[in-house]
Amino acid sequence: MTVSLSELVNYCADLLNVGAIKDYCPNGLQVEGTNKVQKIVGGVTASQALIDEAIACGADAILVHHGYFWKGESPEVTGIKRKRLKSLLSHDISLLAYHLPVDVHPEFGNNVQLAKHLGFLLEGPLDPAGRPSVGNVGRLRKPMKAASLAAHISDTLGRECTYIGDGDTVIESIAWCTGAAQGMIEQAVSAGVDAYLSGEISEPTVHIARESGVHYFSAGHHATERYGIQALGRHLQEVYDVDFTFIDIDNPV
Ligand SMILES: [Zn+2]
Repeated sequence: MTVSLSELVNYCADLLNVGAIKDYCPNGLQVEGTNKVQKIVGGVTASQALIDEAIACGADAILVHHGYFWKGESPEVTGIKRKRLKSLLSHDISLLAYHLPVDVHPEFGNNVQLAKHLGFLLEGPLDPAGRPSVGNVGRLRKPMKAASLAAHISDTLGRECTYIGDGDTVIESIAWCTGAAQGMIEQAVSAGVDAYLSGEISEPTVHIARESGVHYFSAGHHATERYGIQALGRHLQEVYDVDFTFIDIDNPV
């Protein structure tokens, strides 16, 4: 089956509440390709490697979490950006990108999906004052020692998790925010949870974790943000009977 590009873009805009979410990049159709969409390739980031895979499998559109045109980036179409855009345009492939709308969505969001994969029970927002509020607080389905939790995260995500804390402590409550949200450990400290999980880690994160006693799990920016686009893509497959394939271009960070 095929769906028109405009129908697909409008549907996603509605579904993901794009108009209401302030972000640092455009969310929706970033690069326009063919008007009829039958095959969609999904990925975390619209890198050249993902575009090359999409071209190889004859995709009409690419659906990603990390697209282009970030606030503050250079507007010139040169170098890497030229090559990526040329590849898309010359193959008539559209690029649909959803950043914060795919982090915060209550069903297809990266945070909700990550919680499902890791067995975290969601209880509320991590940053209730946030516009939008990204990340959640909740608890483990079954309390476990921090070292076992680190092993569980590594196993589930297929990537060694960096863990800061005393492995023997039993963890019950946890907050999480996918991607590069290590700075939000401060909100996790305020929320009074036992542990905080995000994608990346910075030097100060270690000290905050040690001095606050909040156990920190750095589970990978890429690894924690793989599930939103997959859930959204599967949903579009059901709604429009289009073909959706998620291609995981490995990224150790
Ligand atoms: Zn991200």
